[in-house]
Amino acid sequence: MFWRLVTLVIIQTCAAGAGWYLAGDANQSNLALSFALMGGFAWFVMDSVRGLRLLRWLRAGSGADLTLGSGLWGEAYDRVRRLLRTSNRMTLESDNRLKDFLAALQASPNGVVLLDSETRIEWFNQTAAEHFGFDARRDMLQHIGNLVRDPGFTAYLSARDFLHDITMPGRESTMSKPVKLSVHLHPYGEGRMLLLSRDITALEQAEAMRRDFVANVSHEIRTPLTVLAGFVETLQTLALTEQERQQYLGLMSHQAQRMQTLVNDLLTLSRLEGSPLPSVNEWVSVDLLMDHCEQEAGDLSRILWSQPHELSFERSRACELAGSAVELHSAVSNLVSNAIRYTPVGKRIDVAFRLAPDGAAVFIVKDQGPGIAQEHLPRLTERFYRVDRSRSRDTGGTGLGLAIVKHVTQRHGAELSIESVPGKGSSFSITFPPHRVRRELDRQASHSARATVA
Ligand code: ADP
Repeated sequence: MFWRLVTLVIIQTCAAGAGWYLAGDANQSNLALSFALMGGFAWFVMDSVRGLRLLRWLRAGSGADLTLGSGLWGEAYDRVRRLLRTSNRMTLESDNRLKDFLAALQASPNGVVLLDSETRIEWFNQTAAEHFGFDARRDMLQHIGNLVRDPGFTAYLSARDFLHDITMPGRESTMSKPVKLSVHLHPYGEGRMLLLSRDITALEQAEAMRRDFVANVSHEIRTPLTVLAGFVETLQTLALTEQERQQYLGLMSHQAQRMQTLVNDLLTLSRLEGSPLPSVNEWVSVDLLMDHCEQEAGDLSRILWSQPHELSFERSRACELAGSAVELHSAVSNLVSNAIRYTPVGKRIDVAFRLAPDGAAVFIVKDQGPGIAQEHLPRLTERFYRVDRSRSRDTGGTGLGLAIVKHVTQRHGAELSIESVPGKGSSFSITFPPHRVRRELDRQASHSARATVA
């Protein structure tokens, strides 16, 4: 301010001096005063122009740089420009931080919705949009209660019970394909809420499967146990003839056998689920596998039926499969034993191992049994799923055979396919990929190659 006054005084003094000089002898003081006033006015105009330029620059949103020189306006311009730069940098930084933060929320596998103090939607991520069917353009600033109409959610929202979550159906949920969401509200800021949603469909299904499994196992074990307990009581309390005693003991042994088979199948399943995948470097002879199964099939057919079936075992060229001998035997013998158990005598059962031109191999068990209706086929490999419950039990079935076959098949990178025509018969086949199949010739070739290298 001081320098502005000094400048004004100097300009006016100079102008007055000039007026005094130009006036000559006449009226010197009047002209000096007029020149001083004109000098002051000129300074005022120039100063206002500089001020206006700065104001225009500020109004235009501080675009290109100005040259206002030194002095009050120059310094004001410099300081404002520096302040603006700092504030722009800080805005940019906080914008970037906000973008990073929203990107992190966007990447979250859970649904995230930010609600204001009146439960209006301020922001949501893509997962939440899928869970609740929100549309970013349509639903911003809408009340969430108007968009999520589930009665459980409405009650939860109005109760503001932040301690617990609730489970509700997702937007896409249907009877045939249920979707379950876990939804939790968390308070933050001044009356605001963060809503987190999580798809728990798979978890719920796994839990339901676990419950069903425990219920099924308990039921399967309780039935023979009840029968056994009844016979034990009968033997203890009644005076029986030797023939009756022998008959009861035989029935008890049958029930004990049933429980043993069930426990063995359960153990096999649990081993399959818990053990590492079968090696691709251990080779199992298909001939030996077929011999073993043929022997077992003949025995089972004689035990279960009055006369044996017409059994045929067709082998391909000597061949080996990479994997676990125990698991492969378990899968193949389950298929063969099913065919024998469900096919009446006098009908054919064909078991074959064939090589495909592409190097794959298929193991087929074909029977002329009762066949299976189409609607049962997708569920046959579920644990304890049976088409004919009494036939399965009567022939010593546990309802776990095909579940075991499916597990073994998957663990060997193979594929199980089932074809069946009711009244005509069924065909179960396991197709092994080429890298799990080795012909005798390949084996000899690799042996001689190794011998040459050695
Ligand atoms: P189970 O021990 O009851 O045989 P599985 O898992 O091996 O259990 O088979 C499931 C169901 O599939 C059986 O209960 C039976 O109803 C049906 N099934 C399996 N194999 C055959 C077959 N070869 N012919 C007809 N039905 C079959």
